[in-house]
Amino acid sequence: MQIICCACQKTKSPNGWTKQTAGSGGQISHGYCPQCYKQMLKRIDNFSILNGYRKSA
Ligand SMILES: [Zn+2]
Repeated sequence: MQIICCACQKTKSPNGWTKQTAGSGGQISHGYCPQCYKQMLKRIDNFSILNGYRKSA
């Protein structure tokens, strides 16, 4: 199964995350590469603070 980053469209390969088209026929799972994952976490963090979701934390 291939994992493709739904943010930057990079796919996970043995050599790391590269920008290549996913092979056809195989299963593709959408996820985040480490870079985009970090950015997403930051965004969620900001979003949570803005919306007051962290009041109890
Ligand atoms: Zn990415």
